[in-house]
Amino acid sequence: MSLRIVVCVKYVPDATGDRHFADDLTVDRDDVDGLLSELDEYAVEQALQIAEEADDAEITVLTVGPEDAKDALRKALSMGADKAVHVEDDDIHGSDVMATSLVLAKAIEKTGYDLVICGMASTDGTMGVLPAILAERLGVPQVTLLSEVSVEDGTVKGRRDGDTASERLEASLPAVVSVTDQSGEARYPSFKGIMAAKKKPVESLDLEDLEIEADEVGLEGSWTRVDSAAERPARTAGTIVKDEGEGGKQLAEFLASQKFI
Ligand SMILES: Cc1cc2nc3c(=O)[nH]c(=O)nc-3n(C[C@H](O)[C@H](O)[C@H](O)COP(=O)(O)OP(=O)(O)OC[C@H]3O[C@@H](n4cnc5c(N)ncnc54)[C@H](O)[C@@H]3O)c2cc1C
Repeated sequence: MSLRIVVCVKYVPDATGDRHFADDLTVDRDDVDGLLSELDEYAVEQALQIAEEADDAEITVLTVGPEDAKDALRKALSMGADKAVHVEDDDIHGSDVMATSLVLAKAIEKTGYDLVICGMASTDGTMGVLPAILAERLGVPQVTLLSEVSVEDGTVKGRRDGDTASERLEASLPAVVSVTDQSGEARYPSFKGIMAAKKKPVESLDLEDLEIEADEVGLEGSWTRVDSAAERPARTAGTIVKDEGEGGKQLAEFLASQKFI
């Protein structure tokens, strides 16, 4: 039977762009270009390598995001994924990680899966918690932050590198894993891959398809929301310490006055 891999990929605002809050204090995603979160390219790469090793495997890339999030799906398809699922619904606007994970879990259940692969964190929210919450929602084991991953005989195996030790972990499928940026360089889409991606299926789903009520997501269904935000103050010139014999002392006094030492 085919190994069904679902890779969660996030469409994130370009970090080099000028990002702003909208009136409701959510990120104004219409105002800035976006792209496939670079850390999720590692997840797509690991899915492709696992599929290459398997007799028979199918990779679905999944995103919850606005219309333009299709760009992230197209990039993952051009890297080699087989098909894509795009969940888009106006009511999702303002969803935090709890609400987003609900939508992803329902979409994964509907798609069918043996293995879910996530990135270690998104490059905008950077919480790194979604994979664990997803595993809880799906009721399956989680093996997170892997720098090496493989699948053998219905088991996912991997290595998690910590500061002082490396752990070897495994879980029976179905399971959720997340992979780090140490898991192996992500391939570039080839010209052939880019052309092929244009013909690969992209399924669009909304909340009704997933049997999710509007008040379970969005700002209303979220556990967190931004109450206030302020522009970062402009940089001031700073304090210049001139060394006229006592520079070191003045520096130490400055650091002490700021409670740095
Ligand atoms: C249109 C839109 C509006 C949003 N508005 C808000 C808001 O107002 N307030 C708020 O707190 N959050 C909002 N979010 C959700 C937020 O951007 C994150 O998706 C969510 O909170 C997960 O947090 P994170 O990015 O830190 O995930 P992490 O835990 O850092 O992500 C780890 C991994 O989870 C997967 N993943 C995360 N998000 C997605 C996704 N959307 N689709 C597919 N895979 C994903 C990726 O594999 C990623 O590498 C919004 C999202 C969208 C798409």
